[in-house]
Amino acid sequence: MADDFDAIVVGAGMAGCAAAIRLAQGGANVLLVERGAEPGTKNLSGGILWGHDLDRILPNWWKEMPVERHIVRKAFGMLTADRALCFTYDDPAWGQSPYVAHAVLRARTDAWLAKKAEEAGATVVASVPVEKLNWEGTRVHGIVQGGETMTAPVTLLCDGANSRLSLGTPIRPNARLDGATTELGMKEVYRLDAATLEERFQLTGDEGHAEEWICGLFPPKVMGGGFLYTNHDTISVGLILNIQSMFGTDARSPDLMERFKLHPAIARRLRGAELVEYGAKLISSGWASRPAAFSGDGWMIAGDAAGFVYSSGIVIQGMNYAVRTGLEAAETALAARSAKDHSAGRLAEYDRRLASSGVIGDFRDFEKMDRVKWNPRFYQQYPAMTAALFQRMMTETGGPKVPVRKLLDQSRRAAGMSRLRLARDAYDLYRFF
Ligand SMILES: Cc1cc2nc3c(=O)[nH]c(=O)nc-3n(C[C@H](O)[C@H](O)[C@H](O)COP(=O)(O)OP(=O)(O)OC[C@H]3O[C@@H](n4cnc5c(N)ncnc54)[C@H](O)[C@@H]3O)c2cc1C
Repeated sequence: MADDFDAIVVGAGMAGCAAAIRLAQGGANVLLVERGAEPGTKNLSGGILWGHDLDRILPNWWKEMPVERHIVRKAFGMLTADRALCFTYDDPAWGQSPYVAHAVLRARTDAWLAKKAEEAGATVVASVPVEKLNWEGTRVHGIVQGGETMTAPVTLLCDGANSRLSLGTPIRPNARLDGATTELGMKEVYRLDAATLEERFQLTGDEGHAEEWICGLFPPKVMGGGFLYTNHDTISVGLILNIQSMFGTDARSPDLMERFKLHPAIARRLRGAELVEYGAKLISSGWASRPAAFSGDGWMIAGDAAGFVYSSGIVIQGMNYAVRTGLEAAETALAARSAKDHSAGRLAEYDRRLASSGVIGDFRDFEKMDRVKWNPRFYQQYPAMTAALFQRMMTETGGPKVPVRKLLDQSRRAAGMSRLRLARDAYDLYRFF
């Protein structure tokens, strides 16, 4: 009996929408299934979209997509309980179109992308939570929902970080994710009229500002990074938390969020703004959260579901990798359709594409970053030490000047750091960069 579709894509996030658009553009009869009432309603990002991968399917997408602001400035810093140390990068080139990055709200962008998939010829169905894959031995032959089976020779799993379709199957033999392979993302959106927001962040027109922070203001052991991004007339503010670091402490994620927002450096940006939305979501922890394989007989896995999100605790990039891996899976499915062969051997082309497009190389490199990014000293001693150093370097007290070298040594000792530790951490950083 003929299959219902040429390809089924589960999940209308960045990965699934990009894949469905490309498949439909390539002439495939594709079904895109989303569990949310509308595409985008279940999705959450900080969210800075580095969207160049979208150029491959939607040239000039940024002119039409409901993006918020194009980013012209990025700031990066450390927070202690009451101090802030921040470096800012302003780049006039970022203000030229085509822009390098945009602040986005996923409820808008994903709904727009799903519409583009529909316009390209895909069948898009929302409010359908796919229950499981239709396994026939070692082959995946479509999906099962509500006792009904929809078949296709190839199924793309783009179902996000907590990929229930793959958990407990040969794709991801563990039935559950754990704290080592997931992080927790939290976000709140605050409304502030556009004129006040532009004045406060020194922006003109559609310019946007992004900042990311190492949070040295949490209780001992707890590790996390914070972000603040400007939208058109709202501000997105949130945290990425290391779940494991919270085990055995009495830290509660909502309290950590309050601490972050009440820090003077953050609170003054949010003054007068009104909370309009909040949410939380798991984040795959990069290479450590990868599945047993990226493709097999009748299936491929892309985006967060495959662990392709890079989070360094301060920088997070997942939407770009979701689009890229969704597109590589779609190209593989189109080639398989032409060859009338959807076997594991044929779909292994996806793995080769992941390598040649740089994704695998990036994630192997990012793995080295894990040692650095979740090093507790970066969330305790280093913010304290750096803030103490800068406080003394930048404050004129009327007394004799102390050489910076001596100040550094004093701050190091006050933070309880040995020279050897400092050298080891510096070496780890060097190895990553
Ligand atoms: C707080 C936070 C901040 C972030 N900030 C950034 C940022 O600034 N920049 C960046 O690039 N990335 C950021 N990310 C990461 C980024 O959001 C993800 O990497 C990206 O959304 C991955 O896209 P995806 O399509 O793979 O998965 P998702 O966006 O999670 O989409 C998965 C889709 O599958 C659907 N689905 C799941 N299960 C089923 C099912 N059984 N049946 C049907 N549908 C299903 C979901 O409803 C959803 O629509 C952030 C994440 C968080 C949580």
